[in-house]
Amino acid sequence: MKTDSGAEPHQKGTNARIGHMLAGVYIHVPFCQVRCSYCDFNTYAGIGDMIPAYAAAVCREIELAAQSASRAGLGPVQADSVYFGGGTPSLLPVRQVEAIVETLRRNLLVIPTAEITIEANPGTVDIDRLSGLRALGVNRLSFGVQSAQADDLRLLDRLHSFEQAVQAVAWARQAGFENINLDLIYGIMGQSLTSWRDSLRRALELNPEHLSLYALTVESETPMDAKVQSGELPMPDADLAADMYEWARDELQSAGYRHYEISNWARADPRDEGTTPAFACRHNLGTWRLQPYLGLGAGAHGFVPGWRYSNVRHPAEYVSRIHSGDARPFPFSAAVAESRAVDVNIERREMLLLGLRLVEEGVEASAFTQRFGVSLEAVFGEDLAELEGQGLLERAGESVRLTRKGHLLGNRVFLHFV
Ligand code: SF4
Repeated sequence: MKTDSGAEPHQKGTNARIGHMLAGVYIHVPFCQVRCSYCDFNTYAGIGDMIPAYAAAVCREIELAAQSASRAGLGPVQADSVYFGGGTPSLLPVRQVEAIVETLRRNLLVIPTAEITIEANPGTVDIDRLSGLRALGVNRLSFGVQSAQADDLRLLDRLHSFEQAVQAVAWARQAGFENINLDLIYGIMGQSLTSWRDSLRRALELNPEHLSLYALTVESETPMDAKVQSGELPMPDADLAADMYEWARDELQSAGYRHYEISNWARADPRDEGTTPAFACRHNLGTWRLQPYLGLGAGAHGFVPGWRYSNVRHPAEYVSRIHSGDARPFPFSAAVAESRAVDVNIERREMLLLGLRLVEEGVEASAFTQRFGVSLEAVFGEDLAELEGQGLLERAGESVRLTRKGHLLGNRVFLHFV
């Protein structure tokens, strides 16, 4: 098979690293009850009746991926993390999550300690659903809380209240979850520093193991964008958002959280190892460390050494393509719509682009040399020196990482490696 890039995909013996691949698994669930005003993710409201056929297609895609890996002589892929993202994965009935997890376990080597995360909208769970998920092996929940203020939630078109989020976390604890992330958004139009502080402090009262804080961005062609264009809403205030980020960074440090990625914090724990907090999201860590992951489901992206690829976006086309019976060489399936060869020059840049997001760990010079057989200095020495001179990068032991100033100006750094 020729890909969009004109190159050949993986075949037996073409890449020795694949033979022992340890990969994450990302499963996209493209269903939501309504579209939130700011959202540009690949997700759809009003097609919930497709869920059973969609879950069956994901199971089939897992089988096809396992078969194509085996045909290529690559053996069973080991999975150390499984991440159900969306969309709203918590809309999947428990029996369908179970079918997908069981299919993964039958077809891949899902290691016993694998992190299995499901993203959940606080308004879509109850104690029975959460207990069912925990019983089948889901061990991490990520709740899209976004704000503790009713005005913010209304502006974002979120269907749930903060009180529902509080209840959802209580049910999750009751169900036995010991690893919970809360997503919050700052820089919302009309949000003051005081109301942001209140939102973060009320979220902290829930004692989450992990927090993801995202600055609101107005994505083109969203309902929010239309309101900004028409003057109904102002653009978010970037300076205020920066103040909110800096305040949150200090507040979370005082509250015992480790800032390990630009937008992510993990509660410090005695099991932390070096720059890797025990409660860091293992799935995303793998992505930032440029480790392979399989992307399954409509619009899902995947990466294996040498290739990035993505599936068709619409769930109906995805289901139809998966059932077409068309066999493709690993890591592709009939659902793949785009693929791009990742040559060594791109991969080196990606290691910097992704690794520098890890604000404690950064990019280790020895890891770079081990991966590429050439030193970080030899390839990027000039860029690194320039960014150090601007106070955006610093050395920490044998690693290079963002400075505190660089956390806010990451895009200026990343431009050097695009
Ligand atoms: S719940 Fe999440 S994925 Fe769904 S529309 Fe809202 S922001 Fe987008």
